[in-house]
Amino acid sequence: MKIDVSSILKEAGGQIEIDGCVSLPDTKFLGEYRFPEPIKVKGGVSNNGKSLILRADAEGVMITSCARCMKEIAVPMKFHMDENLAREDSGIDADADVILFRDSEIELDDIVYDNFLMNVEGKYLCKEDCKGLCPECGKDLNEGDCGCSNDNIDPRWSALLDIMKDNE
Ligand SMILES: [Zn+2]
Ligand SMILES: [Zn+2]
Repeated sequence: MKIDVSSILKEAGGQIEIDGCVSLPDTKFLGEYRFPEPIKVKGGVSNNGKSLILRADAEGVMITSCARCMKEIAVPMKFHMDENLAREDSGIDADADVILFRDSEIELDDIVYDNFLMNVEGKYLCKEDCKGLCPECGKDLNEGDCGCSNDNIDPRWSALLDIMKDNE
């Protein structure tokens, strides 16, 4: 989605409303994410006399997998965007705080995508107490016990347990 800001470029105090949708690509970042439908974006761009300020909220649903049982889950997501924008030829230095744009069009897709990456979490669970998969047989433990013995203790812990036994 492109936003034409030509009408407010030279008008301090000018404002343009944003109300639209942005499609995000399938993404592999901290996990894998897909978007069944475009993300809704609502907000505005305003000219504060020095640069353009974009303030908007994005809202949508993403499909990812539970970090424990790997089941596919739909996760509602919502994030706020607050960005400083300036024209390439405005003389403002490009640094981490300013997004430069060419001519009079802002490419909203890139901004929404970057903000999504900043807001996405590394772990999503299908439910708070998801039991995950059995490390032995791979069975989904939410569906019941698999019968594997669970007394395989991580070798890093066994040394500690030995010490505890000695102290008894
Ligand atoms: Zn799960
Ligand atoms: Zn098992």
